[in-house]
Amino acid sequence: MTVDADHINDIIDHVLYSKEDIQQMTKRLGHQLTKDYAGKDPLVVGVLKGAAFFMTDLVREMDVKMQNDFMDVSSYGDGFESTGKVKLIIDLQAEVKDRDVLLVEDIVDTGLTLKFMEDLISKRGAKSVKCCALLNKTARRINDVVVDYYGANVANEFVVGYGLDYLNEYRNIPYIGVVKPEVIKANA
Ligand code: 5GP
Repeated sequence: MTVDADHINDIIDHVLYSKEDIQQMTKRLGHQLTKDYAGKDPLVVGVLKGAAFFMTDLVREMDVKMQNDFMDVSSYGDGFESTGKVKLIIDLQAEVKDRDVLLVEDIVDTGLTLKFMEDLISKRGAKSVKCCALLNKTARRINDVVVDYYGANVANEFVVGYGLDYLNEYRNIPYIGVVKPEVIKANA
């Protein structure tokens, strides 16, 4: 079934990771996290909005007693470049003191967002703070943050789908595609 295919073909240059590729990455990460978090009762935190899609698939591959929460932070506004300032939009409800916290991100790019969240959660007294990102884009990394677990490295291209947006749309595409450079240029 193809719904609104032209709409997608207009912006996507090529598919980078298929639905099956993503499933494999998620299974591999879930398996590793099951081993590493066994007996730790972690608090697994999804970073809205992008990671909500990955988070719900990832935790179902983790055979571990856990709690889940979400927080929303923003550094991009509606553009393609990080604004450099991270804002907390929705805070956690869960207490993090003495907890092993696993942050789930869709993509780590400059690392500013991850640094902001790690600092915040560490200051609140977490026992450990680690990050699992679906994608790791290292080309523009400006912070010495460590992405402890990730599905795949990506080049310095703007990707969309499986939670990642293009101007707040296309999050529901079930694969990850690269946005056409000319589309980015036209909207920059
Ligand atoms: P950072 O603070 O690491 O620079 O940016 C993290 C956030 O920027 C991600 O959670 C994501 O929302 C957004 N981002 C970075 N690179 C991309 C990309 O290639 N595509 C999309 N859709 N969002 C991105």
